[in-house]
Amino acid sequence: MRTTYGIAGLNVLMIVAILGCQERPVPADEGPALDEIRGEQLAAHLQFLSDDLLEGRAPSTRGGDLAARYLAAQLALLGFEPGGENGTYFQQVAIVESVVDPSFTLSAGTGAPFRYLEDVVGFSGVQSPQVRTGGEIVFVGHGIVAPEFNWNDYAGVDMKGKVALIMVNDPPASAEEPQLFGGPALTYYGRWTYKFEEAARQGAAGALLIHTDESATYGWQVVQSSWSGTQYSIPVVPGQPVLGLRAWVTDRAARDIAKRAGQDLDALRQTALVRGGKPVPLGIQASATVVQKVQQKTSPNVIGVLKGTNPQQGVIYTAHYDHLGMREAQRGDPADADRIFNGAIDNSSGLSGVLEIAQSLARAPARPERSIYILFTTAEESGLLGSEYFAAHPVLPAGAWAGNINIDSLNMAGPSRDIVLLGAERSTLGEMARDLAAERMRVVGPDPAPGNGYFFRSDHFPLAKVGIPALSLSDPVEYTSADPAASKAMKDEYENKRYHQAGDEIQPNWDYTGAVNDMKFLAELGWRIANAPEMPRYNETEQFARPRQNATN
Ligand SMILES: [Zn+2]
Repeated sequence: MRTTYGIAGLNVLMIVAILGCQERPVPADEGPALDEIRGEQLAAHLQFLSDDLLEGRAPSTRGGDLAARYLAAQLALLGFEPGGENGTYFQQVAIVESVVDPSFTLSAGTGAPFRYLEDVVGFSGVQSPQVRTGGEIVFVGHGIVAPEFNWNDYAGVDMKGKVALIMVNDPPASAEEPQLFGGPALTYYGRWTYKFEEAARQGAAGALLIHTDESATYGWQVVQSSWSGTQYSIPVVPGQPVLGLRAWVTDRAARDIAKRAGQDLDALRQTALVRGGKPVPLGIQASATVVQKVQQKTSPNVIGVLKGTNPQQGVIYTAHYDHLGMREAQRGDPADADRIFNGAIDNSSGLSGVLEIAQSLARAPARPERSIYILFTTAEESGLLGSEYFAAHPVLPAGAWAGNINIDSLNMAGPSRDIVLLGAERSTLGEMARDLAAERMRVVGPDPAPGNGYFFRSDHFPLAKVGIPALSLSDPVEYTSADPAASKAMKDEYENKRYHQAGDEIQPNWDYTGAVNDMKFLAELGWRIANAPEMPRYNETEQFARPRQNATN
């Protein structure tokens, strides 16, 4: 396979010469040992990592810890040095588990309190067994502070000791500004996590998000099931602003709140759709009580490093090793019911892919300029906690990371022409990926559903938030297998029937070709990022460009 690439490389050189492109492709014998990336090896790692014996790899369980030990052992075998704490491969992540008691209450102004689950769902950012909080309710539109769009929904209001009432999603673009808040794409300003973070930064005591099915793109039952019961977080660090109350209210409850204050919710909303809308203090008090069971656990991130000639800077690959564990036995289960969430695709496949990439990089004939880090995260499924912890304790300073390549699930449905890299277009990584794709007769596909905000939903995202240029591998659409329709059907079958189910197991009809191609692509891309003369950076209009701009100002 090595020689095949050599010949392909020659063709590329000729094409590049004809096109007058300035960038010289790295000759195959200087870069990663791409022929080290093989389907049989992917399968071998996958076999172990998705075995029933690992019991679904939940964080802080025997199965999860076994997966972490296996990954550390593999990194050691490949010659990666320990990149964790105290000379180990492990970075211990503290996880706070809290279970909200259904006795949760919320009242606002005069009138009946709102009913838990029916009208309101919520939890607390404060990690203690009982939290009482409240204050005057202030309507703050979309709750966004975005200097790059000249937009501030909190202008002129002091939120200290107050409760923000906030619309979900981001403001609509206008005819004059079609790219305002990303046009039809969802920006991070539209995500619920952002709304709570910003309200906390403003010093608010609590926040109430107004749920509507259209603006959230999912129904109230999703709010009920996702944000009641057990919630996970990393410990609050001293001095970090937190909300005593993080809640969602139904549209009906929000209308009721406005009415109790003598206001009309639709009229308030209308003023918030255009720039310059002002926060509106409603003059009525909210008060809430959250009773919760709080428990501390720890689970390790696994970190290895292949030192470069300039070890002050790095490139980092991420893939989560945790999955959903096992479910409790239910009445009516057959004796042999499968209760183990093996997470073969999600994310044993990504782990195996990153191990193959690690091998090809470790066996390159030379060391790259910047160091290559591998981070296998814990607790991704509980809310990106392992990567959030890493972003807060990033081993090298946040500004020293040239880029992050995240892999959460591989394509096992056959080869494709396109490779979809979520977020690539947000930074100069996009151009590097496009050049590489052109050399390989492939294309970098666009985010198939920019309105769904997938960029905000895996481990690269906490790294993006601290300014690290990041991208994440996603599913292709242009299969080049013998039967593209069958490939597509296989992908759909996984999404509809196996994703986050006990049936996410190794399948006999998997085709590893696409995954092998993608891993070769991402090994080469990481190598180029490690050797790029200039540090990659976000486009200036990107929200994520700000942390680094602020750091250098
Ligand atoms: Zn995943």
